[in-house]
Amino acid sequence: MQVQSALFFETPAEIYARVFSDLKPRTAVPEIKIQFRRFASANSFIRLQDGCLHVRICDVLEGAPAPIHEALAYILIAKLYRKPVPAHCDARYRRYLNRADIRRTLDLLRQTRGRKFVSGPKGDVYDLEPMFEELNFQFFTGLMARPLLGWSRRPSRTMLGHYDPSHNAIILSRILDSPAVPRLAVEYVLYHEMLHLRYPTQHHGPRRCIHTPDFKAAEKLFPRLKEARQMLKALP
Ligand SMILES: [Zn+2]
Repeated sequence: MQVQSALFFETPAEIYARVFSDLKPRTAVPEIKIQFRRFASANSFIRLQDGCLHVRICDVLEGAPAPIHEALAYILIAKLYRKPVPAHCDARYRRYLNRADIRRTLDLLRQTRGRKFVSGPKGDVYDLEPMFEELNFQFFTGLMARPLLGWSRRPSRTMLGHYDPSHNAIILSRILDSPAVPRLAVEYVLYHEMLHLRYPTQHHGPRRCIHTPDFKAAEKLFPRLKEARQMLKALP
């Protein structure tokens, strides 16, 4: 039985070693280290350093079938040594990434992981941390655990704020971090996102914003709500 499992279940490192010998038959197989990382896309990286072959692969591919790992091993090792990539490997790997379920997973990754923090809570004008604590004290008796707070990379007008459950993070659009935007408007957007934390919903997509009746009732507690919304409509 042991012989069989050795034959049928090659680990990814064993696959890379076999492919390496196939592509570089006269070179001793180096030590191989494979890491599955939480990348935001199906990127993979390979480098040879200190006699060790380091391979980093997106964790989505961790459970991929052996033939897919083999195809990717041919692609990466061939590229490392500037050899032509065997066409059937390229095709097999692409076909896998194009599978509907894999494509859906990768789309989701781009949306959730892709939005990285480039800034902490302190913007040029507004600091989200004390603002969060004030709102926390005022509306949640100070009991809400503080998520990560940050500003978006791009000044989006269509998405002024966003709660990302996969990172437990509230991100506000950089467009709000401006002296031209009144504090009340920023507080309102932050409060709105805090309510998404307080009233979680089933998410059908990371961008879809769902407001339950409880959510809407809580939002009405925000003083000068109308005024704040009007300010957001009139963003410079
Ligand atoms: Zn919302």
